[in-house]
Amino acid sequence: MTLLEFENLRVSLGDRPILRNVTLSVAAGEAVGLVGESGSGKSMTVRSVVRLLPEGAAVTGAVRFEGADIASLGAAGLRRMRSRDVAMVFQDPRAVVNPVRTVGDFLTEVLRDQGVNRADALRKAAGSLSEVGVDDASRRLAQRPYELSGGLLQRVVIAAALLTEPKLILADEPTTALDVTTQEEVVAILDEQRRRRSVALMFITHDLELAAAVCDRIAVMYAGEIVEILPADRLHTEARHPYTRALLGSRPGTVPPGQRLRTVPGVPQSALTAPPGCVFADRCPHAEDRCRDTRPAFRGSAACHLLEEVR
Ligand code: SF4
Ligand code: MG
Repeated sequence: MTLLEFENLRVSLGDRPILRNVTLSVAAGEAVGLVGESGSGKSMTVRSVVRLLPEGAAVTGAVRFEGADIASLGAAGLRRMRSRDVAMVFQDPRAVVNPVRTVGDFLTEVLRDQGVNRADALRKAAGSLSEVGVDDASRRLAQRPYELSGGLLQRVVIAAALLTEPKLILADEPTTALDVTTQEEVVAILDEQRRRRSVALMFITHDLELAAAVCDRIAVMYAGEIVEILPADRLHTEARHPYTRALLGSRPGTVPPGQRLRTVPGVPQSALTAPPGCVFADRCPHAEDRCRDTRPAFRGSAACHLLEEVR
């Protein structure tokens, strides 16, 4: 059953496009990875689900959640969706958690809003903390965010996300701000919990291998467009788009220290200045004249003029 559907989504600011032709669906309980370099439109795509878009953004096309167009929800419907059906986990937990209130206040806020009494809400919060591997939950509930490490605080955010029993979790580079060991622990917990509860997940990362480990399907984004969508377990054998292949070919070991992105030769294309043809043409080793003139449509899993040749 389809839970979430993007159909020809286009988001622009003034005459500058940010997202174009984004068409993607997420089934109930499915995990879909959105992979691409910074500025490729991944965050904007998931933010459009909850209409967290920049001031003045113009949206065409549709985003449907359980069949209903989000544009028609109205303020109350949107609020209900954000507090109940869709949970968000962002890159930096400190930007989400109120620094002067306790972890318990943060965790119980939504439940209290739903009319749950304080004692029950705290009990549920403690249970949720234990489930994401936070020991000594009752002590943690009384602490403030600065007393917790980034990894612990991100677990708190995940515990809060799970508390509302959402149907969908939007995770935008949830571990980028953490050290490597902590990253692995936090991803493992998010993965385990969402599988156990059959919660759908949109997982944003610049790390293709991480997305493949956590997700059922992968959508690769470049310059505001999706260029390839494929099952995670066929990533290595069936990826056909030259950009996906380039991402796969650039191993993490080749990344210079301090640079977190796997490198693909050339400068990332911005959606704002994308050429009339294929968005990847400036960096593609296979580009020919028609690539620069004519935008490739999706054929099978990828949007590229030369799929057969590339294979
Ligand atoms: Fe490369 Fe052309 Fe395919 Fe674009 S359409 S990815 S430029 S071969
Ligand atoms: Mg981003």
